[in-house]
Amino acid sequence: HTVLETRNLGKVYPNGTEAIQGISLAVRKDDFIVIIGSSGAGKSTLLRCLNRLVNPSCGDMFLNGEEITRATGRQLRRVRQQVGMIFQQFNLVRRLTVLENVLVGRLRFCTTLLSHTGSLLRLFSEAEQELAFSLLNQVGIGNLAYQRADSLSGGQQQRVAIARTLAQNPALFLADEPIASLDPKSSEVIMGLLRRIHEEQGIPVVVNLHHIDFARRYAKRIIGISAGGVVFDGPPEALTEAI
Ligand code: ADP
Ligand code: ADP
Repeated sequence: HTVLETRNLGKVYPNGTEAIQGISLAVRKDDFIVIIGSSGAGKSTLLRCLNRLVNPSCGDMFLNGEEITRATGRQLRRVRQQVGMIFQQFNLVRRLTVLENVLVGRLRFCTTLLSHTGSLLRLFSEAEQELAFSLLNQVGIGNLAYQRADSLSGGQQQRVAIARTLAQNPALFLADEPIASLDPKSSEVIMGLLRRIHEEQGIPVVVNLHHIDFARRYAKRIIGISAGGVVFDGPPEALTEAI
């Protein structure tokens, strides 16, 4: 079934840049989508619209059938919880431990806690800490739970970000250029991990990439974006050299 749907979605930034226009697509539960396109094509804008980090300028969006185009307040927080996202730069809280970073994914008002000194662990039940540990083991870094986030390699930090996003129990998992800062070996690990999470937990995944070779190898469905519009939507086998 369809988890997220956009109809004629468009975004014009305040400076007048028309980043995307007329985007109509449905993300289904069994989708592992890679969005490809050159720099500036609109991939990031599209992904950020999908969890409403960016407000679309026109069109409509539906999450599990519920209209979320103009969601605010509590409904918007629920959209952000249900549509999890990781980024190129990992966006961890540097001075917190790995375990604390994962637990932060379960906080609703984490910003108030970022100025907190001392361990965050006492804010969480044993069950929540165990869940965070099991997620770290799932992404292969349970042994790093008490390390500071900023002492980890890039590949390890992205694994923490994945565990943190899983901790919020998302209905849809978005990844905006998750391997753009990583070496080739770590890139394979992260793409493999995302694909495994999709297969094992049945979570639909949408990944932005500018590497077409990774897209061909990992995607079940590729969406090509050019100048803010969809120019291809199909399985990797259907992708011709023209794109
Ligand atoms: P991609 O992710 O494919 O590189 P983006 O969505 O980042 O594409 O950018 C699409 C277009 O929107 C580009 O022309 C970019 O310069 C512009 N853009 C992105 N973010 C902003 C912003 N905050 N304000 C104005 N223009 C922006
Ligand atoms: P990067 O490739 O960015 O340096 P990785 O996350 O791929 O970071 O891993 C860095 C190193 O840590 C690798 O040598 C990897 O084998 C090791 N490593 C990762 N997870 C574990 C684990 N659960 N137990 C032991 N070693 C690990």
